[in-house]
Amino acid sequence: MNLKKSKFLGGFNRFRLMLTLGLAVLLPAAALIYVNFSQLHAIERDKVLEAAIHRDFQQTLAITEKKINKKAYTMAEEVRDTFPSPDADEKEKEKKLDAILAQNPWLSHVFLFDEQGLVFRSQPQQMNDKDVREEHERWAEMYGGWFGMEGKSYAEELHNKPRSMIFYPAKTKRGSSDGWTATAHFTLPQVSNDRGVVGGATFDPCFLKQTFFPGFLDEMVKQNSNDSGGNQLAMMIYPADAEMGKVKPLVTTAGWGEGKPEVMRKFDDGFRGLALGIKYQGTSVAELGRTWVHRSFLILGILSLMIIGGLVLTKHIVSKEMGLARLKSDFVSNVSHELRTPLALIRLYAETLELGRISTREKKQQYYRIIRKESERLTALINNILDFSRIEAGRKEYEFRETNIAELVHNTLDSYRYQIEQQGFAFEENIASDLPPVRVDREAIARALVNLVNNALKYSTDEKFLGVKLYRENGVLKLEVADRGIGIARRDQSKIFEKFYRTGDPLVHNTKGSGLGLSLVRHITQAHGGEIVVESTPGKGSKFILSLPLKGAGSVLEARA
Ligand code: ADP
Repeated sequence: MNLKKSKFLGGFNRFRLMLTLGLAVLLPAAALIYVNFSQLHAIERDKVLEAAIHRDFQQTLAITEKKINKKAYTMAEEVRDTFPSPDADEKEKEKKLDAILAQNPWLSHVFLFDEQGLVFRSQPQQMNDKDVREEHERWAEMYGGWFGMEGKSYAEELHNKPRSMIFYPAKTKRGSSDGWTATAHFTLPQVSNDRGVVGGATFDPCFLKQTFFPGFLDEMVKQNSNDSGGNQLAMMIYPADAEMGKVKPLVTTAGWGEGKPEVMRKFDDGFRGLALGIKYQGTSVAELGRTWVHRSFLILGILSLMIIGGLVLTKHIVSKEMGLARLKSDFVSNVSHELRTPLALIRLYAETLELGRISTREKKQQYYRIIRKESERLTALINNILDFSRIEAGRKEYEFRETNIAELVHNTLDSYRYQIEQQGFAFEENIASDLPPVRVDREAIARALVNLVNNALKYSTDEKFLGVKLYRENGVLKLEVADRGIGIARRDQSKIFEKFYRTGDPLVHNTKGSGLGLSLVRHITQAHGGEIVVESTPGKGSKFILSLPLKGAGSVLEARA
């Protein structure tokens, strides 16, 4: 009845534990894994990462354009401030414009248009270049004609612009290569705008290509490379009318390599006709996105496996703890039972003797023997429990002394010989004669042997045989205790050395025991630097082999020899 109830409670506890584990741990963990996986999947499907990088690129390009424009305007304004007055005579104007060119080598041409006509000056040392000369003549003619007709209305238009300035882009030629330049057209602040006075300054295309643009691009690349996750940026400027496939860069930063820009932006103010391009060095954003998603999937996979592993481990540990708790409660009832039986017997026989009703000497002797035997059993059990509690508390101490091990084993067996034979056991004792002295804790070794012998007696049914062997093999001292009893199933063989563990065999259930004996034997063996193994076949019998090293901590033999 009680057993049934405790089994039911155990099952209920287990169910509750599994439910808690399921609801409180498994479910959230599964949900977390699922949500993360689907989020990653969505990121991959919607190309979220790529879009974010593209937005970032757009912003970088917009900032670059703004900086370039701002600088171009400022430079042009500074030049404008030094422009000669339209009221000066032509020579004076030429002199002043030439001085401006000399002071600002980044200019190709400067000009001033007023009521007296156009004064158009170019860098004198560049005039040796055929292209510059041709450009000088062509542009002087073009501006002269244009402003001659529309100078006034154009000046009006310029005046209405935010900084009274318009940039006018143009393709140019220098040496053998094509170039780009822009000319700032402006009105002079100190001159009334209805006079139709227009000034102009043309950026030198080589200056733009070699100094001006690269300066901005390099600065932007440097600024933005730190926060792009280790991927170096590359930027360029190219003619905007090129088809995407045939981009011919005008200016690139180091590491642009081949290929088209990931994101582009056309200049729409100062340098119309040119475009800015940006990409990562040596990789594309799509590739980057793919790598990132793959890496994230991998990390998530590993983390998920770790979570699952952790859960399995937790379940395992919790089940083990629960098993141990059950074993402990079984232990308490086993031990109480084991204490009660010898005590009851001792009391019964002592009372009978006390009453003085036993007349024959033999009977008396028998009763005394029973009382002694039962008190010995009690002592052994209590010793086991005390030892066990010392071990559990980490207070068990061993006293190693040089010992004649053959004698120790023989004497220990001697005190059991009568009991063994009484129970109808065939007893074989086989002790090698040439054994050297070893350093052991005598009491502990005797207790280990007694536990093994007791088990052999307890767990034998039909064939009653006990064999004890002590011999030396390959520098190891071996103590074997064999029986032909019920044996131990394979799956139990590793567990029987754990504290409180008893097998599920019906005979074991009906035999008194605490499940402590073998755990003590193992502890004692290990304290001596040795090991204990079991060989057993269910129904055929078991053999426990205790090995102690002859060399090393526990032995004095080799040191002496
Ligand atoms: P106890 O004998 O008090 O139950 P032990 O720690 O000595 O505890 O043994 C643990 C278990 O190992 C026993 O309950 C029994 O199931 C099994 N066992 C030990 N020795 C033998 C043996 N010689 N033959 C069969 N089973 C054994």
